[in-house]
This record gives sequence, structure tokens and C-alpha cells, in this order.
Amino acid sequence: MTVLIFTLGLLWSSSLVAGNFSYDGELGPDHWGEQYPACLGKTQAPINIVLKDVVDASYPPLEFSNLENPHKTNIMNNGHTVMIRNLGPDAPAVSGGPLNDTYNFLQMHFHWGQYDGIGAETRIENQTFSLEMHAVLWKKGYGTSDEAMNHEDGLTVLAYLFQVTDEPNPVFESMVSQLPEVAGVGTNTTFNDNNLLNRLLGQVLPTEQTYFTYKGSLTTPPCSEIVQFINFGKVQSISHDQLQAFRSLRSIDGGNITHNYRPLQPINGRGVYRNVPAEDTFSKPTNKLENSGTSAPSDAGTSEATTAVKGTVTPSWKPEVTTNKPNMEVTPSLKPRDDSYYEHSGQSTWTVSPLAVIAGVVALLTYH
Ligand SMILES: [Zn+2]
Repeated sequence: MTVLIFTLGLLWSSSLVAGNFSYDGELGPDHWGEQYPACLGKTQAPINIVLKDVVDASYPPLEFSNLENPHKTNIMNNGHTVMIRNLGPDAPAVSGGPLNDTYNFLQMHFHWGQYDGIGAETRIENQTFSLEMHAVLWKKGYGTSDEAMNHEDGLTVLAYLFQVTDEPNPVFESMVSQLPEVAGVGTNTTFNDNNLLNRLLGQVLPTEQTYFTYKGSLTTPPCSEIVQFINFGKVQSISHDQLQAFRSLRSIDGGNITHNYRPLQPINGRGVYRNVPAEDTFSKPTNKLENSGTSAPSDAGTSEATTAVKGTVTPSWKPEVTTNKPNMEVTPSLKPRDDSYYEHSGQSTWTVSPLAVIAGVVALLTYH
């Protein structure tokens, strides 16, 4: 009987944890492609964002909805990371920016490292960061998150970067205090703080509209190439002790989750775009009169969006860490060198391969 219960327990917990992969050894990132072919695709994530190759653009404002109301949320240790879910009916949503529809919140999770100086998946100018938070949202037009997984524009990931400092990040405090409750693989708990999700998502918006955006993939198997990444340029703080709370979680491999970031993937000629907020675009005197700051730039699908910013390239991004002000100077730069992205900004013309459908189904299983 004990054996039966133990076996059932294993089955139950394995049904809750994500796929058969690891960050080391025979199941490590170098081998993901053997079992999950999409991991060898051409638009994989994460990437290193190289400022000289970034194309500036001016998108409509990126806007959240349903962030005002409290949200009952749950957190689960899936053996690879901790994942936050919204339990209520009105999930937060995001629209605008490079997105051609409203995207509804699906889940949020985190990537960290064994040392304080590394752990985020995305790099900017090859600089590493301590932690990266991914909010995954699905395209409302597809009706369900399941269906969205079958489309190349099915998901968007909002990526937030954190760098270690001496000061704890107050937004993380209530979550970190409950992380020990989900130390075990497959365990979950409900957050006491019903405003946690709002605060986590709202750390950069609505004031921060400086972000990088590009087409990418899930950064864990099955690596489905169905993600529009939106990487906020504002880097926020996290303390060593807060990072340690993540590293104390148990891993599906048996030890602790000391690190769960995927290595960088090749860009393969992808366009990486940087949104230049409208107020910066219109700060030039000649533009101020015409635009008077009351209206957003027109849709990203127009030529206006691609020509909004011109100038000389001077990479000026500085990794100053702060919790209350944008640290990224926007330097008007770079003539667009590739307009192909914008052709996809209106009604989607993306097609779906059979592989993507299969990968989408697997992704669904993984992400639920
Ligand atoms: Zn992620």
C-alpha cells in the first residue's frame, strides 16, 4: 500500500512539473534539440541585445488593463522554476506596443543563477543580470491559451531584468516570504498578498515605455517559436538574500534550483527593435507644435513608425540599478534597416507548420 501511494504520489507530482529537461548534463540545453526539435530553430531565445544592431521605432503606447483590482494568485514549484498563476476571472492583460491584439495573462515565472552576477537569460551589450522575470500572456483573438499556442504570434513575454544590490526590492518581499512554502517540487500555495501580481507586473508600467522587442521562443522545451518578446530596458534591484530564496527551492534533478537560465541563442538576422517613447520622439521643437503631445504615433504598421527616429548611433544604455526611475537613456539612433517586421504588425499573416502545432500542444501541457 505504501508503495502504491508513493507511486501515485510520483505520478501526481510528475503531472504537475514541466517537461523532461535540465540545465546540466545529458538533459541540458545542448541536448534539448534531440527531444524537442524546435529548440534548434532559427528564432530562439534568449538573445544578447547589441545596441548598434537595434532599430529604433515608435509604437503605440503599451498598456495594461485589469491591474487595478486585487488578484488571488497561486505559486507552484514545477521543478525548473516557480510559476505564478492568476486564480480569479479577470486576468491582467496588455495591448498596444508591437502587439496586434490584447494579450491575457497566463503565468509568470523566474530565471536565476548560481552566482549573483548571472541568472537573467537576456543580455544587453553582453552584460549579465541577476534575475529575469517573465510574464507570459496569450493572444485573446485565439479564444483560448490552448489555441494561441498553435500560432506564431500566440504569446508575448514581458521580460523584466533585476540586478543585485544591497537593498531588497520591496515588491518581492511578500513573495519571497512565502517561497519556503513551495520548496518541494510540485508543491503550490496561495499568496496572502492579493496585490502581488499587480505590483510585479506594474513595476515598469505605465511610466516605462522603453523596451526592446523581437520574435523569439519559449526559453524552455519545447522552445516553441510563438513569442513576441518585450524586454523592458529599466533594470530593477534585488538583494542577495532575495536571490538566495529562489536558490533554496528544490529542483526536479534532486538538488536545489541553483540556476535555470538558458544560454544565449543566435540572432540569425532577426530584427530587434527599441521603442522610443512618444514624448522623446516629440521633444524636438519642430515636432512639438505639430503633435502637441496629445496623440500617440500612428500604428506601427505604417511607414511613419519606421521613420519616427533618425540620427547617429551612440549606444548609451547604462546598467544603473534603481527602483524608481528609468535608467535607460534613449538616444535617437539607427535608421531602420529592415522593415519586414512591420509587415507583420497588422493583421497576422503568419502561418503554422505541423511541427509548430505539435510543439504548441506540448507547450500547453508544459505551461499548465
Ligand atoms: Zn522564462
